[in-house]
Amino acid sequence: MATQKYIAFADIPAWLEELSAAQTVYAPRREGKAVVYRPWQKGEQPELVERPTESAKHIVFPRAEELFRFNYQQAPETGGSKKLSLAEPADPAPAVVFAALPCDTRGFLFFDPVYSGSGTNGKFQDIYYLKRRACTTLITRTCRAPLATCFCNWTGGGPANREGADVLSTDVEGGLFLEALTEKGEAVLKSAALSPATEAHISAAQSSRDKAARSMGDAPDLGRTPPALISLFENLDFWREQSAGCLSCGACTYLCPTCYCFNITDESNGISGVRLRSWDACMFALFTLEASGHNPRNGRAARLRNRVGHKFSYYPGLHEGRFSCCGCGRCIKSCPSSIDIRRIVQNALAATEASRG
Ligand code: SF4
Ligand code: SF4
Repeated sequence: MATQKYIAFADIPAWLEELSAAQTVYAPRREGKAVVYRPWQKGEQPELVERPTESAKHIVFPRAEELFRFNYQQAPETGGSKKLSLAEPADPAPAVVFAALPCDTRGFLFFDPVYSGSGTNGKFQDIYYLKRRACTTLITRTCRAPLATCFCNWTGGGPANREGADVLSTDVEGGLFLEALTEKGEAVLKSAALSPATEAHISAAQSSRDKAARSMGDAPDLGRTPPALISLFENLDFWREQSAGCLSCGACTYLCPTCYCFNITDESNGISGVRLRSWDACMFALFTLEASGHNPRNGRAARLRNRVGHKFSYYPGLHEGRFSCCGCGRCIKSCPSSIDIRRIVQNALAATEASRG
């Protein structure tokens, strides 16, 4: 049977201190108006009241990461031509993410098939992502009070979703009930800072999970969304209306736990330098700008169409019908123009329903 433990809120720093001896522990911390995942510092009590503003994706998929260093040398044996040497970065250190939201944990499941080369039989594997993913343990925390912007239940998740988690923790009186879901989860629950869970903890955690699930209300049927979005592809009037207020700021993509696009640049100084991978966003005008000057997505309407279409039509078409949106609602909460992806999906369904008569 899976290990089940309990920890009082006051004892959480002692447990994290023990874990941090062998790995980097990330936990939610308040910084100004935001709550962000940062390396935990000795004695720190994580922020467990307000929900994280950002997702935990940067811990496995850094905002900018070094792919390798390069150096050109003048090589006499090659008749003066340049010789290139490459140095790969060290393997990533093991990490633990404490109190990840269930939608954030689930978000990694949309990266996994893409970065492990699913569809190419593993031919194109992203070793940088896969190494970090393998050495990261995710301790998820059941949501106690989903926000008005949350809609994880529309896209197959829920406030106590276990998918992708190594440990599921749930608030009970005075502390957390912890349940190991994988071998990595079992390893982090082997700690003297934790005590065995009682029947009362198990039952209180179940009530807490049920209550959170009930608070989400009913989810609409989004089954017709992929064909609806395809049928609206050429309807730029529809997309102009949906994107009218968009500022192309990219906040929606940067905060999204399932957006995985990147750019690659070489930063060099003389004969040596570093190749970097950095986050990029399809909501930026330059994202698809070609060297010729042509931009196939030259306008907010085409860019928003791509973002919504990718999550609710193209990705599910390639990955067993799964929407690549975990319903975290961050793009809704943080959009300066109050653009709501739920409303766009529902408008698309309504528009195609109306045209079918
Ligand atoms: S956050 Fe809102 S305004 Fe900014 S790019 Fe996204 S949709 Fe446009
Ligand atoms: S599209 Fe919006 S709601 Fe969906 S996962 Fe991304 S940020 Fe969350």
